[in-house]
Amino acid sequence: MSKKTPFISTQDEEAIVAAIQEAEKNTSGEIRVHIEAHTDEDHYEHAKKVFDELKMHETELRNGVLFYIAVNDHKFVILGDQGINDKVADNFWDTTKEMMQNYFRKGAFKEGLVEGILKAGQELKIHFPYQDDDTDELSNEISKSS
Ligand code: CA
Ligand code: CA
Repeated sequence: MSKKTPFISTQDEEAIVAAIQEAEKNTSGEIRVHIEAHTDEDHYEHAKKVFDELKMHETELRNGVLFYIAVNDHKFVILGDQGINDKVADNFWDTTKEMMQNYFRKGAFKEGLVEGILKAGQELKIHFPYQDDDTDELSNEISKSS
Protein backbone atom coordinates (compact mmCIF):
# COMPACT_ATOMS: atom_id res chain seq x y z
CA MET A 1 0.00 0.00 0.00
CA SER A 2 1.28 3.45 -0.86
CA LYS A 3 2.44 5.58 2.01
CA LYS A 4 0.44 8.39 0.56
CA THR A 5 -2.89 6.65 1.02
CA PRO A 6 -5.07 9.34 2.52
CA PHE A 7 -6.52 8.53 5.93
CA ILE A 8 -9.61 10.50 5.22
CA SER A 9 -11.44 11.85 2.22
CA THR A 10 -11.22 15.51 1.31
CA GLN A 11 -14.88 15.81 2.23
CA ASP A 12 -14.32 14.36 5.70
CA GLU A 13 -11.32 16.56 6.17
CA GLU A 14 -13.39 19.63 5.36
CA ALA A 15 -16.01 18.54 7.91
CA ILE A 16 -13.33 18.17 10.57
CA VAL A 17 -11.81 21.57 9.83
CA ALA A 18 -15.31 23.09 9.95
CA ALA A 19 -15.83 21.47 13.37
CA ILE A 20 -12.60 23.05 14.63
CA GLN A 21 -13.74 26.45 13.38
CA GLU A 22 -17.11 25.95 15.06
CA ALA A 23 -15.58 24.80 18.35
CA GLU A 24 -13.21 27.76 18.41
CA LYS A 25 -16.19 30.13 18.26
CA ASN A 26 -16.97 28.99 21.81
CA THR A 27 -13.56 29.12 23.35
CA SER A 28 -10.21 30.84 23.28
CA GLY A 29 -8.76 27.32 23.37
CA GLU A 30 -7.05 26.23 20.16
CA ILE A 31 -7.84 22.80 18.79
CA ARG A 32 -5.61 20.90 16.39
CA VAL A 33 -5.89 17.46 14.82
CA HIS A 34 -2.92 15.29 13.88
CA ILE A 35 -3.53 12.04 12.01
CA GLU A 36 -0.99 9.39 11.18
CA ALA A 37 -0.91 5.68 10.44
CA HIS A 38 1.23 4.24 13.18
CA THR A 39 3.89 4.89 15.77
CA ASP A 40 6.18 2.46 17.56
CA GLU A 41 6.22 4.74 20.56
CA ASP A 42 3.80 4.93 23.42
CA HIS A 43 0.88 6.90 22.01
CA TYR A 44 0.65 9.38 24.83
CA GLU A 45 4.38 10.11 24.76
CA HIS A 46 4.29 10.40 20.99
CA ALA A 47 1.34 12.78 21.13
CA LYS A 48 3.38 15.00 23.44
CA LYS A 49 6.15 15.14 20.82
CA VAL A 50 3.66 16.03 18.10
CA PHE A 51 2.28 18.72 20.37
CA ASP A 52 5.77 20.24 20.61
CA GLU A 53 6.50 19.84 16.91
CA LEU A 54 3.31 21.73 16.07
CA LYS A 55 4.42 24.44 18.52
CA MET A 56 1.13 24.10 20.29
CA HIS A 57 2.57 25.38 23.56
CA GLU A 58 2.88 28.85 22.04
CA THR A 59 -0.66 30.04 22.69
CA GLU A 60 -1.03 33.00 25.01
CA LEU A 61 -3.19 31.19 27.55
CA ARG A 62 -1.49 27.83 27.06
CA ASN A 63 -4.81 26.37 26.10
CA GLY A 64 -4.07 24.38 22.96
CA VAL A 65 -5.69 20.95 22.63
CA LEU A 66 -4.34 18.23 20.38
CA PHE A 67 -6.44 15.38 19.05
CA TYR A 68 -3.81 12.83 18.06
CA ILE A 69 -4.98 9.79 16.07
CA ALA A 70 -2.93 6.75 15.02
CA VAL A 71 -5.33 5.20 12.54
CA ASN A 72 -3.80 1.74 12.07
CA ASP A 73 -3.15 1.38 15.79
CA HIS A 74 -6.75 2.24 16.63
CA LYS A 75 -5.47 4.70 19.21
CA PHE A 76 -6.15 8.31 19.93
CA VAL A 77 -5.03 10.81 22.56
CA ILE A 78 -6.52 14.13 23.62
CA LEU A 79 -3.77 16.31 24.98
CA GLY A 80 -4.30 19.73 26.54
CA ASP A 81 -1.64 22.31 27.33
CA GLN A 82 -0.58 23.44 30.79
CA GLY A 83 -3.12 26.26 31.03
CA ILE A 84 -5.94 23.75 30.76
CA ASN A 85 -4.39 21.17 33.05
CA ASP A 86 -3.98 23.84 35.73
CA LYS A 87 -7.72 24.50 35.72
CA VAL A 88 -9.45 21.19 35.21
CA ALA A 89 -9.63 17.78 36.86
CA ASP A 90 -7.61 14.87 35.52
CA ASN A 91 -10.74 13.25 34.13
CA PHE A 92 -11.72 16.37 32.19
CA TRP A 93 -11.50 14.68 28.78
CA ASP A 94 -13.05 11.37 29.80
CA THR A 95 -16.57 12.00 28.53
CA THR A 96 -15.22 13.34 25.25
CA LYS A 97 -12.97 10.30 24.86
CA GLU A 98 -15.77 7.87 25.65
CA MET A 99 -18.06 9.52 23.16
CA MET A 100 -15.41 9.36 20.45
CA GLN A 101 -14.69 5.72 21.23
CA ASN A 102 -18.34 4.86 20.75
CA TYR A 103 -18.26 6.35 17.27
CA PHE A 104 -14.92 4.80 16.37
CA ARG A 105 -16.12 1.33 17.43
CA LYS A 106 -18.90 1.68 14.88
CA GLY A 107 -16.35 2.70 12.27
CA ALA A 108 -17.70 6.25 12.24
CA PHE A 109 -14.30 7.94 12.18
CA LYS A 110 -15.25 11.36 10.88
CA GLU A 111 -18.35 11.60 13.06
CA GLY A 112 -16.38 10.65 16.16
CA LEU A 113 -13.78 13.27 15.49
CA VAL A 114 -16.28 15.99 14.59
CA GLU A 115 -18.42 15.32 17.68
CA GLY A 116 -15.35 15.08 19.89
CA ILE A 117 -14.04 18.42 18.66
CA LEU A 118 -17.40 20.14 19.15
CA LYS A 119 -17.70 18.68 22.63
CA ALA A 120 -14.20 19.83 23.50
CA GLY A 121 -15.23 23.35 22.44
CA GLN A 122 -18.22 23.19 24.78
CA GLU A 123 -16.17 21.86 27.69
CA LEU A 124 -13.43 24.44 27.19
CA LYS A 125 -15.95 27.27 27.02
CA ILE A 126 -16.48 27.04 30.79
CA HIS A 127 -12.84 27.73 31.60
CA PHE A 128 -11.72 29.54 28.47
CA PRO A 129 -14.61 31.51 27.00
CA TYR A 130 -14.25 33.06 23.58
CA GLN A 131 -12.93 36.60 23.75
CA ASP A 132 -13.88 39.45 21.46
CA ASP A 133 -10.29 40.01 20.45
CA ASP A 134 -9.69 36.31 19.92
CA THR A 135 -7.29 35.38 17.16
CA ASP A 136 -6.74 32.06 15.45
CA GLU A 137 -3.45 31.26 17.12
CA LEU A 138 -3.06 27.76 15.71
CA SER A 139 -4.04 26.60 12.24
CA ASN A 140 -7.32 24.71 11.93
CA GLU A 141 -5.92 22.55 9.14
CA ILE A 142 -5.32 18.89 9.87
CA SER A 143 -1.70 17.91 10.37
CA LYS A 144 -0.71 14.54 8.89
CA SER A 145 2.30 12.30 8.69
CA SER A 146 2.73 8.79 7.40
CA1 CA B 1 -8.47 31.42 19.04
CA1 CA C 1 -7.36 27.47 15.47
